[in-house]
Amino acid sequence: MDNDYLIKPVQYVKTVGLRRAAVLHKMGINTIKDLLYHFPRRYEDRTRLRPVGACGHGEVATLRGTVLAAQEIKSRRGLTVTKLAMHDGLSIFYAVWFNKPFVKKNFLPGTKLYVTGKVEKGFGATQVIVEEHEIDGGGDSLNMGRLVPVYPLIEQLSQRLLRAMIKSALDGLDGHTKEFLPNNLLVKFSLPRLEAALSGVHYPNELQDTEKARKRFIFEELFLYQLALAVRRRDISGRKKAHRYQTGCSLTLAYIENLPYRLTNGQIKVWEEICRDLESPIPMHRLLQGDVGAGKTVVSTLALLRAVENGLQGVLMAPTEILAGQHYLGMKEVLAAIGVEAGLLTGSTRKKEREELLERIGSGDLKVLVGTHALIHESVEFHKLGLVVVDEQHRFGVRQRASLQEKGLYPDTLVMTATPIPRTLALTLYGDLDVSVISELPPGRRPVKTYAVLPGALNRVYSLIMEQVRQGRQAFIVCPLAEESEKVDLKAAAELAENLAGGQFSECGVGLLHGRMKAGEKENIMASFRRGDTEILVSTTVIEVGVDVPNATVMVILDAERFGLAQLHQLRGRVGRGNHQAYCILVASPKTEEGRARLKAMTRTTDGFALAEEDLRLRGPGEFYGTRQSGMPEFKIADLLRDWKALQIAREEALAWVREDPRFLKPESQALLDEVKVRFGGAGNYFDVG
Ligand code: ADP
Ligand code: MG
Repeated sequence: MDNDYLIKPVQYVKTVGLRRAAVLHKMGINTIKDLLYHFPRRYEDRTRLRPVGACGHGEVATLRGTVLAAQEIKSRRGLTVTKLAMHDGLSIFYAVWFNKPFVKKNFLPGTKLYVTGKVEKGFGATQVIVEEHEIDGGGDSLNMGRLVPVYPLIEQLSQRLLRAMIKSALDGLDGHTKEFLPNNLLVKFSLPRLEAALSGVHYPNELQDTEKARKRFIFEELFLYQLALAVRRRDISGRKKAHRYQTGCSLTLAYIENLPYRLTNGQIKVWEEICRDLESPIPMHRLLQGDVGAGKTVVSTLALLRAVENGLQGVLMAPTEILAGQHYLGMKEVLAAIGVEAGLLTGSTRKKEREELLERIGSGDLKVLVGTHALIHESVEFHKLGLVVVDEQHRFGVRQRASLQEKGLYPDTLVMTATPIPRTLALTLYGDLDVSVISELPPGRRPVKTYAVLPGALNRVYSLIMEQVRQGRQAFIVCPLAEESEKVDLKAAAELAENLAGGQFSECGVGLLHGRMKAGEKENIMASFRRGDTEILVSTTVIEVGVDVPNATVMVILDAERFGLAQLHQLRGRVGRGNHQAYCILVASPKTEEGRARLKAMTRTTDGFALAEEDLRLRGPGEFYGTRQSGMPEFKIADLLRDWKALQIAREEALAWVREDPRFLKPESQALLDEVKVRFGGAGNYFDVG
């Protein structure tokens, strides 16, 4: 007995076949298991058949009756309306279809029929707008007279067909599945076994069956995921660093003394956590979270210096050339002041310069290297890489992080993100990382005043910009980028910049920045903005992360409804980094409820964590973090907000399991591990388990 049946291609199911399989593929259903794990979105209770007379107006109901007569009407607008007069044993009602010409032919008088749909009671007559129907053949029906599953669908498929396919997949299941969840856990949490759960979720006898089944699948999903994390964590903590940290602190102390400000308590706390990690023989795997502007860069610079004063090299990787350049510029002088040289390596570093850099990195002459993805290139070899820092880590795949780590012998790793992750999620997402949070902003920061306005108010917005510019401040104007036509958008941004430069802002310098520009060009424009030579920067979203120009006080976001909350928050974080009052103006005409809710959330709070919670509520975690980017699997059935308790339990159980059988030697562990690999071990996936 094994799970071979489940991993067979879905066309092995009797009612599926190749053509239908092709449709299923489009929904990501490839194996029989995928099909059986395609869970209903909800259930319709078609158990209680009532006479039409007992149904209320507007109610969705299932009725059974006998066809008396059929009539087809062409409406003036070309709609075909089919009406069947039916009798349910007590009274007459009309079943109505729109544009379904086959109906009249199929249901001759005398046919017994189930119909489901909305009941409309008019003057004297009652009609049902039919959503689903089925001939009552007297036998057992999948679609009527029971709790009927309603599935997420794509257009080429109907509920009826999908139900039939899932039913035959279930029928074929008979004894062919192996339970992979450990027996003691099934008992402990009273969870149904796999086969019972599958039939309970698709064909429940009563609603309770579905709840039990769901409880199992939710636990299963979260437990396997947490197990994968635990395995990964165990592997990491089984490693030993090649280097040891001594206690000398010459560089870090000198750096702190040279800072023009004092570290905040939050920064100090995190710095202490990092120091403990560095001194431990187990490689550090720490996530540093802090809202935009919280001052993560300083902390990471300290960590880099700590590596250097211990004879090691440190590297900092940023997602864009602008960011890498900014980090480099920010570090170069302060490091030089204490006798440490930093290098910058990006895709646009000239060949000669690059060769020289590589040479000095290889020899260990250069201690600190800043750069972009270019750092991952195989030609980059370190003499003694001790610390890897990854900024805005959600922009990188886990693989990229890993390739950088492989350049050292189990180096310490610090990843930083300004994407605020609610605590509920941090555990799930980053169960393999320790998490530090800088929760306070440096003193003197005033919250950015945020307003949402309609496009009609643009002139007033421009006046605000002018006012600020006259006071010596600077402004960003961001135009969104729609993926379908980057060109058109670029043109729009360019035109806007031109119009503004020739119009409202003719007195000031207006710069234009967009993603298609060459790196050198971008850097020039940023440099000019940083120097204050241009006061207004019109840009597509390339400035989204990390840009630090404390003198900028206005952030105008055009078509703001097209951005997600996380992005809006990131963009807003570009201002309010200095001591002046800053403004964020969201210019938008939102068309959806959700769009309005997003803007409202932005004007209500500047707290990234609160916004993240809000977005989680509005759209679900996948949207906020970009599932693939964050390395988080898309959960099929678990909902991280709703199932937060189950998540904690799953985590505890997974940790306990790994503690008890760290090498996965028990047969039950083997079954679990196999399942973990199937779920989370695919190519390009987060886990290299086992
Ligand atoms: P982020 O966490 O977004 O990367 P940065 O490290 O870029 O934030 O810091 C934002 C700004 O705050 C920078 O201009 C930095 O110099 C400044 N800063 C950092 N720490 C402090 C502090 N303790 N006191 C005052 N200003 C600080
Ligand atoms: Mg930063």
